[in-house]
Amino acid sequence: MKLPASWLAIPADSDFSLYNLPFGIFSRNSDEPRVGVAIGEYIIDMSAAAQLGILSGAEVAVSVFQSPTLNALMALGRPVARRLREFLQQQLTQRHSSLHKLAAEVLVPQAEALMHLPIAIGDYTDFYSSIEHATNVGKLFRPDNPLMPNWRHLPVAYHGRASSVVVSGTPIRRPNGQILPPGAEVPVFSPSRALDYELELGFVIGKDSKLGESVSAEDAEDYIFGCVLVNDWSARDIQRWEYQPLGPFLSKNFATSISPWVVTLDALEAFRVAGPTQEPTPLPYLQTRGELNFDLELSVAIGTGTSTETIISRTNARHLYWNVRQQLAHHTITGCNLRVGDLLATGTISGPETGDDYAPNGCLLELTRGGQQPVQLADGTTRTYLEDGDEVILRGYAEREGVRVGFGEVRGRVC
Ligand code: MN
Repeated sequence: MKLPASWLAIPADSDFSLYNLPFGIFSRNSDEPRVGVAIGEYIIDMSAAAQLGILSGAEVAVSVFQSPTLNALMALGRPVARRLREFLQQQLTQRHSSLHKLAAEVLVPQAEALMHLPIAIGDYTDFYSSIEHATNVGKLFRPDNPLMPNWRHLPVAYHGRASSVVVSGTPIRRPNGQILPPGAEVPVFSPSRALDYELELGFVIGKDSKLGESVSAEDAEDYIFGCVLVNDWSARDIQRWEYQPLGPFLSKNFATSISPWVVTLDALEAFRVAGPTQEPTPLPYLQTRGELNFDLELSVAIGTGTSTETIISRTNARHLYWNVRQQLAHHTITGCNLRVGDLLATGTISGPETGDDYAPNGCLLELTRGGQQPVQLADGTTRTYLEDGDEVILRGYAEREGVRVGFGEVRGRVC
């Protein structure tokens, strides 16, 4: 559905078009963090809009928009957020609408706002759903048998750490830990020398499920409010020494960055595509049909502070082998309950080699073949893993027939 033009000037290449309207938490001049909606280069201050009566038709209590997280809004259910988004689309396209008349009191330039972590995250689960990533990493350790026997039967995951999920822009401290030097038999204690990023998407849960009950793949999207970009920072040397037999622990618990704007599933609806063919056919509870992947262009850039950033990878979320319905059905098949604010990330997103100028790899472990093939940056330096002062910038957007819906960025600088 094509919308009329807005009375507000929205740059044509903006991630935050009329078709997006993602939710976030912002403040300005050290005032109270509150709910905002991104549009072009502005934020609609939803708390101010509600207090001025602009949102009176939405039947949402003002306190929901004064909250420092999106949890209360999400808990009202997807239909409420859907109505709000459609209402704002009307207000932004009708001249002399309430929002137009009161724009000076309600629109905040993004350049003047501080963005906050948008969600109180209760639990964070990270999957491993890219077959290209799992295969490329598996080859480094098991050249003849890269995929584990379970991989094509279930969406592999680990339970991550929610307390250290931070918003874009938060500095990332290089972790210390135990590392086994090459050829050594006992570990040393050291700052990580193999700090890496992981390019991922995260799905935010907007509805509780009941303990003891599983959510079917068919119903799974009712439980998802929206989507963010995720950087799952990883210390590969700590990981290598600790990960057997129970998986990653300290190598990933020190920080995970997310983008400040939560893009609703409704905004991504127009960008659905079918995922890859799954062979063998999964067990019945994991069987899905239809266009369940999203056509999202993703990129990774590194900025060194001394030069312009270098884009080092490009890929697309459409390549993910396991889709979010399957991830959610698998997560709850035991009766494990989901709660509003839980974060389910896809795992590193890589894709097939396309032969263009950009590698399709979502982390340095994969891109540098385990640190063996350095990547070149614009300032003439090379990287195998991240150095202090490096800034990692992940971006993602969808575009079709002139309609663009994007996530903006998630940034983090290593210190
Ligand atoms: Mn990960």
